[in-house]
Amino acid sequence: MASDVVLVIGGGPAGLEAARGAADLGAKVVLVEERDHLGGTPVFERYAALTHGFQDAEEVMNRLAQEVTTHPNVQVKLSTRVVGCTGSKGDFHVTLTKVSDGASETVHAGAIIVATGFQHFDPGRETQVYGYYEYPDVITLADAEAMLKARKFVRPSTGLPPERVCFIQCVGSRDRQIGNEYCSKVCCGIASKQAIEIRQQVPNCKVYIFYIDMRMYGYWENEIYWPAQEQYKVNYIKGIATEIIQKGDKLLVRGEDTTLGRPMEVLMDMVILSVGMEPSKGTREVARILGLKQNKYGFIEVPHEGVDPVATSVPGIFVAGAAAGPKDLDDSMSMAGAAAMKAVAAIRRAIAVASGG
Ligand SMILES: Cc1cc2nc3c(=O)[nH]c(=O)nc-3n(C[C@H](O)[C@H](O)[C@H](O)COP(=O)(O)OP(=O)(O)OC[C@H]3O[C@@H](n4cnc5c(N)ncnc54)[C@H](O)[C@@H]3O)c2cc1C
Ligand code: SF4
Repeated sequence: MASDVVLVIGGGPAGLEAARGAADLGAKVVLVEERDHLGGTPVFERYAALTHGFQDAEEVMNRLAQEVTTHPNVQVKLSTRVVGCTGSKGDFHVTLTKVSDGASETVHAGAIIVATGFQHFDPGRETQVYGYYEYPDVITLADAEAMLKARKFVRPSTGLPPERVCFIQCVGSRDRQIGNEYCSKVCCGIASKQAIEIRQQVPNCKVYIFYIDMRMYGYWENEIYWPAQEQYKVNYIKGIATEIIQKGDKLLVRGEDTTLGRPMEVLMDMVILSVGMEPSKGTREVARILGLKQNKYGFIEVPHEGVDPVATSVPGIFVAGAAAGPKDLDDSMSMAGAAAMKAVAAIRRAIAVASGG
């Protein structure tokens, strides 16, 4: 029997937008989130300001979450994971388990939207020697977000504001040796956004960004990259950092200035590693449970991305957001809207077919 329920897995930006969209189109929605709160990685990892417009990440996500939790067509199940699935398009039976006590239930769904997101690359796996687990003043983009959110951007080793900070781009991305050849798409923009926030919070701090090439477009280029250089005097240096060592109470960054074609050595108080995006553990797990094809990096494969951007390898199951590959919010939200529309169309078609229409 066909079901009129859309099951959304993942309560981050993409899952929330997919749930809101499908519910607004009149479908019954069950939203499953494995954590005990909604909002996804921006809330869980304590991001500071979100683009567009440097809005407080928690406030933005809470507003979106509230629209979903108060929607009469949406049922939210927190601290809940998907553990099994049978059936096919129009007629899926999905087994859910409560993380706290293992209690299980089955949801009958006509269509499924997977929005299980990403996790940050672990810099312990990098091929260059950046010493993330060795030196307290080497941090990641995610660590920097949490410090900026707390408005306490200080050197972890001293608790004092830094005078010189640099970002190292493409850590864990565009790296054949670790098998992540892809560009994570967001880290050039996010490093530039954080550089602005650092200059706002610690005006005397000089900020440098060492990049292979800056990859930004549209909003990120016009409203983040150019103001970072022109208004906030962030220094962009085309160069590859190959090693970081502790020198006294500073960090010595060694590498090559590729514009000048000569070795470079600079002293910094803090180094921020621009770590890339990898599929979350949940994305890999849900793909396996639902029988979805994954690409070689573990993201959920979209077989005809150009013309059918949210369809997975299984009819009736759609994907939205960073579960399908690195994405910023704009792309995650657009994908979620498209997935909601496709899922509702799929359940309506299945119900019409089942009732002989
Ligand atoms: C440091 C940093 C800063 C950023 N800042 C910005 C910014 O300012 N502007 C911007 O446009 N983009 C920004 N981004 C990108 C942005 O975070 C992503 O585009 C967005 O989070 C993707 O949303 P998502 O819902 O696809 O995934 P996520 O945010 O990762 O959410 C996925 C959700 O699914 C849940 N989940 C996972 N597995 C399961 C499971 N098995 N069962 C149930 N639930 C599950 C997770 O708990 C999580 O709640 C930033 C990224 C980084 C790394
Ligand atoms: S967005 Fe920038 S830092 Fe991130 S992987 Fe691509 S080029 Fe490197």
